[in-house]
Amino acid sequence: MPVSETVTSQSAIMSAYGRFPITIVKGKGAYVWDEQGKKYLDFTSGIAVCALGHVPDAVENALKEQLGTLWHCSNLFHIAPQEQLAKELTAKAGLDQAFFCNSGAEANEGAIKLARLYAHLVLKKEHGHIVTFDHSFHGRTLATLTATAQEKLQKGFGPLVSGFKYLPYNSSEALDAIAADDGCMAVMLEMVQGEGGVLPADPEWIKQLNQLCKDKGILIIIDEVQTGIGRTGSLFAFQQYAIDPDIVTCAKALGSGIPIGAFMAKKQVAKVFTPGTHGSTFGGNPFATTAGLATLNAFDKQNVIEQCKKNAAYFMEKLQALKATYPAQILEVRGKGLLIGVETAVPAIQLVNQLREDHQVLILTAGEKVLRILPPLVTNEKEIDIFIDALEQVLKNQ
Ligand SMILES: *Cc1c(COP(=O)(O)O)cnc(C)c1O
Repeated sequence: MPVSETVTSQSAIMSAYGRFPITIVKGKGAYVWDEQGKKYLDFTSGIAVCALGHVPDAVENALKEQLGTLWHCSNLFHIAPQEQLAKELTAKAGLDQAFFCNSGAEANEGAIKLARLYAHLVLKKEHGHIVTFDHSFHGRTLATLTATAQEKLQKGFGPLVSGFKYLPYNSSEALDAIAADDGCMAVMLEMVQGEGGVLPADPEWIKQLNQLCKDKGILIIIDEVQTGIGRTGSLFAFQQYAIDPDIVTCAKALGSGIPIGAFMAKKQVAKVFTPGTHGSTFGGNPFATTAGLATLNAFDKQNVIEQCKKNAAYFMEKLQALKATYPAQILEVRGKGLLIGVETAVPAIQLVNQLREDHQVLILTAGEKVLRILPPLVTNEKEIDIFIDALEQVLKNQ
């Protein structure tokens, strides 16, 4: 953007985001409303955050109660909802202990620190490195940006953090490189690369990667910031693969929109954190962990995972039918659960804009030619039909 344009911008907010030209003021379920009262079907879910839809009753009620009780007290005291959330989340993930923070990047940053400290104290790999994969996305802090193997996002922010190596995702080349690499302390990966284009991991590759890491004593860190908390049809996406992670991170959907992140680990890894090794002022505070607990409880009570699987099967069937009718416009439909990518012949942003302007339907892109569709997990066939009809109208007019 030319400098003059930035300078004349009317907003007091830095221009770090390209924003759609609407101001959202209200949300309920799968819908949001703008300032003029115009209603939109929101299949972005605040980028995979509002899994239960906007302002879900169960979480709203729990937060209202917490608002009148305690907002914050710091991690120098015991926090009951934090204890309870850690217990439930680790039990569901098959891990032992959790650390709470405020975002996905912070969860991954913490996971990187935990892996490094474990390598230092236990593996004695002082100058080892962490392997991440091309097209990954792990966050915007310096370490997580370095872990993010996308040059276009890193450009201009050097010097980056040392101790990372990149390999191609889903490739035997990566397995060979790790097998030959004695400095690798950990691998870090997404089970479906979300920002990178909605690319699911190949189950056979994951199985081999897992075996290789176990044989070589390499830690496995899974970034479930986008895939986690039900998005792919299981609470965590790794649970659908033959992989046994040492550290798992999550954030986006955990608090239904209240900022919270977490990383969890096996006991033998987690135990390298002792008082003073890591910290966060707000991390896991009473308000945020109440939101997390209410979210998990709503998942159980409302069978949200089952709803997600049912909606995903219906959605995929409809999208495949659309692809069969419009093979020149839709090149591929892929994803896992309700993390859906549609590869298009025309620029994805063009379709996204037409859906919003002409049909009041909101979705995202993941790269130039991929539509990223992230409905609330509790959507239904009626809402999916509204979306499919709108997409068909837009495709017809290309
Ligand atoms: C969104 C995302 C992050 C970063 O989360 P923030 O809360 O924006 O810091 C990290 N990893 C993945 C896979 C993500 O989708």
